[in-house]
Amino acid sequence: MTNEEIWQAVLGEVELSISKVQFTTWFKDTFILSNENGRVVISVPNGFAKEWLENKFKAHILQALRNFQENIKEISCVICNPQDKRQCQIKNIDAIKAPKQNQIIDLHPNGIVSNTQINYSVGLNPRYTFDNFIIGENNELARAACYAVSQSLGTNYNPLFIYGGVGLGKTHLLQSIGNEISKDGHQKKVIYISSERFTSELIDCIKNRKVDQFKDKYQQADLLIIDDIQFISGKEKTQDIFFHIFNFLYQLNKQIVISSDRPPGDIQILEERLRSRFEGGMIADIGNPDLETRIAILRSKSAEKDFFIEEDLIKFIAENIKNNVRELEGALNKVIANCQFGRKPLSMESIEDTLSDTISSSKRKCVNYKNIIKIVADFYEITSEEIIKKGRRKKIALPRQIAMFLVRSELEASYPEIGEYFGGRDHTTALYAFIKISKELEKNNKIKKDISLLQDKLYRTN
Ligand code: ADP
Ligand code: MG
Repeated sequence: MTNEEIWQAVLGEVELSISKVQFTTWFKDTFILSNENGRVVISVPNGFAKEWLENKFKAHILQALRNFQENIKEISCVICNPQDKRQCQIKNIDAIKAPKQNQIIDLHPNGIVSNTQINYSVGLNPRYTFDNFIIGENNELARAACYAVSQSLGTNYNPLFIYGGVGLGKTHLLQSIGNEISKDGHQKKVIYISSERFTSELIDCIKNRKVDQFKDKYQQADLLIIDDIQFISGKEKTQDIFFHIFNFLYQLNKQIVISSDRPPGDIQILEERLRSRFEGGMIADIGNPDLETRIAILRSKSAEKDFFIEEDLIKFIAENIKNNVRELEGALNKVIANCQFGRKPLSMESIEDTLSDTISSSKRKCVNYKNIIKIVADFYEITSEEIIKKGRRKKIALPRQIAMFLVRSELEASYPEIGEYFGGRDHTTALYAFIKISKELEKNNKIKKDISLLQDKLYRTN
């Protein structure tokens, strides 16, 4: 077998055992550079991939290689440009420990060259740092990507797109990049803004005929962070201006970091050209924290507040609040407050009592759009896709209305939000579905039974 054939076979094996995102992230543009005396050198496109291949995936790769060539003893990675496969320039940079960039003299916003220390950051909250971010399996990839970006702007992963549910640490990570850049007297211009604020600021500028100034402001960023990008869905003008700012910064190798509650492909009414820009960079997701991570977060947050809680009580809270970190933090704050006001000494019972509301609503919150739609789809033997996507087939209409009804009644979602989620429909469609099913419930026993079964399934599976 040639080296190329061996590597293709190894990739084929690795691909089966890790997620698609991970595979593309770490193994894209890799190849065997040399293979001598049982020592294989793999070429990787950047220091970040080197770090992960040599550490996290080493055993995996070794094992797969040995399936094709038994004498393999060792692997190592070197960084080289995938375009120069032949005259590969080996550089010994390690992105994770990349040296600080040279101090760059920035242009002051009014055009004066300045080398004095000016704080260029906008919108950062110093509370969020990498130091106080707990790493767990759920956020490992996202955290590593954010950290790598903070060590070397515009070179590693551009744009960086982080997605995940509410309260899982997206804002924390995005802000950490900004704070990392702003420390140590860096003179980089960092702008952090939510896409909602971005949109409302733009609307003001349009009214006051200041769109050029608006663009200028954002085009000066060395690092532009846009949080919760999903809110620009359907807003054509905002998308258009953002697209221009994006291209401008991208061409200058300025770093763009974006967060969203879902992957780019799932943002309805997002212009194709923006979607493909987002998909062209690095995408990393954050999932729900497992028990171990939740415990570590509670430990760290209580230590931050100089408050001591016994391990078994921490574990009790972590076992009962599962959905998101914001809720976990809220629960801890409640317990601390109750204890500090002398109302209740800390015990399992007092905590249970303090958190009873949170715990029951936390159980409810395991229910989300996705599992409601899935359960309805399975029940009516159609697919989730069919329910969400546009299409007027009769067979789908009732299940779709029932799904909308359940989303409204179980999640208390707003009609515009429901319309948006279900294929970018108008809010009146969601409203109509809710009214229709509510009426059916009063007179149609079959539907009543179906809905009760669906609710049962929803809460039983969680
Ligand atoms: P999101 O933007 O995803 O909705 P946030 O970043 O606002 O979530 O996180 C909610 C809260 O949980 C914040 O106070 C944040 O500091 C905290 N948090 C989330 N994940 C972690 C973590 N891994 N370690 C420490 N704190 C975290
Ligand atoms: Mg957020």
